[in-house]
Amino acid sequence: MTRESICPLCKGTMGPGKTTFTVDFGSGLVVFRNVPADVCQQCGEAWLSDSVASSVEKIVQEARSGQREFEVVNLSAKAA
Ligand SMILES: [Zn+2]
Repeated sequence: MTRESICPLCKGTMGPGKTTFTVDFGSGLVVFRNVPADVCQQCGEAWLSDSVASSVEKIVQEARSGQREFEVVNLSAKAA
């Protein structure tokens, strides 16, 4: 891992943390909780790793194809 630990937005220090965010895909909404991310200690911006981002994308696609209107996903429960 050669991940930069400097926030691209404010140049603050990034550290490992958890974040919560919502994806609105038009016909529905998925809320992700306890998402592992690098969180900026200055501005609070959270940056997902590629693997986390792709699992988020997969869950959104499943929700969309299953026509689920609202879903809360606890990612830490899903993490190996
Ligand atoms: Zn920042």
